[in-house]
Formats: sequence, structure tokens, C-alpha cells
Amino acid sequence: MNKNSSNIMALAPNTSNKRETVCIFGTGDFGRALGHKMIQSGYPIVFGSRSTQKSSLIPNDAEVLSHAEAAQKAAIIIIAIQRQHYNFLTPLAEILHGKVLVDISNNLKINQYPESNAEYLAQLVPGAKVVKAFNTVSAWALQSGTLDASRQVFVCGDDMEAKQMVMDIVRALGLTPLDQGSLLAAQEIENYPLQLFPMWKFPILLSLGLTAFFFFYCLTLDIIYPYVYENKDFSFFIAISIPNRICPILALILLALVYLPGVLAAIIQLYRGTKYHRFPDWLDKWMLCRKQLGLVALAFASLHVLYTLVIPIRSFVRWRISSSTVSQALNNKTEPLNNTYAWLSDSYLALGILGFFLFVLLGITSLPSVSNNVNWREFRFVQSKLGYLTLVLCTAHTLVYGGNRFLNPSSYRWYLPNAYMLSLIVPCIVLVVKFVLVFPCLDKPLTQIRQGWERNPKYSK
Ligand code: NAP
Repeated sequence: MNKNSSNIMALAPNTSNKRETVCIFGTGDFGRALGHKMIQSGYPIVFGSRSTQKSSLIPNDAEVLSHAEAAQKAAIIIIAIQRQHYNFLTPLAEILHGKVLVDISNNLKINQYPESNAEYLAQLVPGAKVVKAFNTVSAWALQSGTLDASRQVFVCGDDMEAKQMVMDIVRALGLTPLDQGSLLAAQEIENYPLQLFPMWKFPILLSLGLTAFFFFYCLTLDIIYPYVYENKDFSFFIAISIPNRICPILALILLALVYLPGVLAAIIQLYRGTKYHRFPDWLDKWMLCRKQLGLVALAFASLHVLYTLVIPIRSFVRWRISSSTVSQALNNKTEPLNNTYAWLSDSYLALGILGFFLFVLLGITSLPSVSNNVNWREFRFVQSKLGYLTLVLCTAHTLVYGGNRFLNPSSYRWYLPNAYMLSLIVPCIVLVVKFVLVFPCLDKPLTQIRQGWERNPKYSK
């Protein structure tokens, strides 16, 4: 290739565009990792340290000076030191006056201190412009280059110019800055890395609780009951039959629980005649984790599909089919095809397939990469209209599975309904209430309330 081609010229580094020196206080894990990454991105780095002796771990191109000397060489100083050691900065207040101090610190516990570390730093060095950033990126990710999971860097600060300078560095490192506003947001940003799947807690605990309940329910009816009354050992049901009962039950209940808070919110709004009154806390929290509830429901539905696929190769099923064939041969009598059962069985399977297809579609549209590419109306159409259609199909799938067994007294062992009957309670309530809410006498006032009308002076703003 011709070395003088215009493409090569365009890609040549612009030496006049030299980056400004950045100072990093602290030569610990994070300071070194960030320094290394910044040197790679073209920033001259000077470390401020308690010891000016340069260890082999410190990048070759970086200088190591005392805190005071290093601070004088840069306008931006990144404080890569734990909060509990910040008081060494007080005697440096004069040198740090007017500098941009970047607080990257994290704590060990949520809300560990009354004020955020960044606000504490701003109190210690009142003349400096404090910006919070980088605390959600780990030293390991910076070093290994595996920044996929933590590419976003939350940035906040009271000085717009200082914030902009830090965001430019973030971009230069190949990361994405997310402006979170003033330094008041620092506490939330510091709590963020300490949270453990906050939105998943309720869906996971709920599904664990429901799984335990339905496991013991099915164990009682499908294994203990036949053992007590017929002396039959069906303990092997624990491996496939019982999980394949629990999975669709949980998928259906959790899917209904995605839509139940919506109808409860509509009832509350209709009762109050306004949308400007806060929902109870439990309802707010429930609404916030609907996506996670739906995804857990989808996981159970997928497991149900997998369990169903192995049914034909199960030893118990093959034994039942062959013994029925042998008994027909011995009795010299062929059982005629029952058209009603054939219809029920095919309809039940068709409803399940369609329901699962829409369920997967809902799951896919909830992925950020997909939902970012649809507008609000399209997202609502999929999550609300198609969501309800999925709930209708999955409820119908369960109803048809039950067929006429609902009316058969032998289905009620120990006077208890079959587990799948219990799974229909919440979805049926949701669908009936939703159906009632669609009537114009309720839908019209609800739409007006959601457009800002206030119909009840008791609850108005
Ligand atoms: P570290 O390895 O313990 O390093 C902290 C550095 O602070 C030390 O190397 C030391 O540097 C300096 N230091 C220690 N005691 C001091 C004192 N009494 N006075 C002045 N300086 C002192 O900690 P780190 O993991 O790098 O974390 C540094 C900060 O980054 C913390 O606030 C942490 O929350 C935050 N952070 C870390 C990570 C991470 O993945 N590690 C991720 C996000 C945020 P000198 O010996 O050079 O003085």
C-alpha cells in the first residue's frame, strides 16, 4: 500500500492536539490501573504519593512526586485514595484551590456516612471543584480491558466546566459518561456499586416461595396420596413430572403478577379521581420490578417447554403407551379415536405454542438494545396489548389442559384442587378486572384522569 495515501495521512496522530497532564493521588490498585489506561490514551500522568520512590508496578512513563509537587503540575487531580484518609488533603487546601478534584471512592456499606464521599471532599477542600466519577469502574476492568459490563461512568458535580473536563477524559478512555447532575447525586452514585440486584430481589424471593409451596402441594397430591391410598410408588415424579407442573404454574402466576399492579393502579386512580396522588410504596416497588417478574416468568415457561420435549422418551410414558397397546391387543379391542379429546389436546398444545411465542417476543422487546429502538407507543403496544394477549393464551392453555377435570370429583384428592387450578386464580382475576376496566363507563374517566383531570377534590394536588 502506498504509504503516502490520503487515508494514512488522515489517520496520522495530530501531535499538536496534546492532552493536558492529569495528576493522580495514590499509587494503589485503582490509581495505577487508571494511570496506565490514561497513558495509553495519551495523557501525561503524574502521581502524588506519600513515597516518591517509583516501584516497578507504576507505569514507566509516569512521574511520582509528593502530593504538593504533583498537584502543582495539573489542573485535574484524581483522588485514588480511600475516604478515611482524606484528611491529609486539608493542609494542601491552598495548592488545591481552583483545581478539579475527581472523587472516585466507594464505601463498604450503603449510606455508610451521612454525606457522600464527594460532598465530604468538597467540605475538606472548599476552594476546589469536586466531581464524582469512575467509582462504578473496577481497577481489574481497566487493567484487563474487559470494559463491556462497566462502560458507563456516572459523573456528577456542581461546576459545569469541571464536569465537562472529566467527561472528556472519560470519553478519551473509550468509556461512556452519564451526567447525573449536581454533587447531590453523589450519594446515589456511591450506593450504586453496592446494590445487589435490587430489582430482582422481590421476583426471586417470590418465585422461591411459590416454588416451595407448589412443590410440597404436588408432592402431597401426586406422590403421598397414591402411596397412602393405592400403595403406588411414584417418587420418581420428583425428577420431571413435578417440575413440569411447577414451571407452567409459576410462569402463569408471575406473568399475571406483571399485569396485576397495573389494574390495581387503575382502580386506585379511579377511586381517587386523580393521578397526582402517590401510590402506596409497595405498589410503586411492585411496578418497578415488573420487567424482572416477566423475565423470571419467561425462564419458567422455557423450562416447561424443555421438560415437555422429553415427555415422549420418559420410561414411565413409554411403559404406559405400551401397556395400553398390549391390553388392547389382549382384549382384541381397538379403542376408537375420541375426537373431543383430540381437539382438546391439539387446542391445548396450539395455545401453549402461541402463548410461548408471544412470551419470548415480550422478553426480547424488554432487552435494552431492542427497547431503545422502538418508540414509546410501539413499546406500550408490545408490553401491554401483546402482553395481555400472552396472558389470555397462557390462561386458555391451562383451562383447556384442565378440560372437564374441573368438574370431576376424582380430581380433588383430599378435597384439594389440582395445583394447576390454583394457578388460574390470579390470571383470571387480572383478566376479569381488565375486561371490566375496558368498559367505556370506566375507561373514559380513567383516560381523563391519566391526562391530568382531577375528579375528586379530596385527593387533588
Ligand atoms: P488501595 O490499593 O488501598 O490504594 C489506596 C492508595 O491510597 C494507597 O496505595 C496509598 O497510595 C494511598 N494511601 C493509603 N493510605 C493513605 C494515607 N493515610 N494518606 C494518604 N494516602 C494514603 O485502594 P484502591 O483499590 O486503589 O482504591 C482507591 C480508591 O478508589 C478507593 O476510594 C476506592 O473506593 C476507589 N475505587 C477502587 C476500585 C477498585 O477496583 N480498586 C474501583 C472503584 C473505585 P500511596 O502509597 O501512593 O500514597
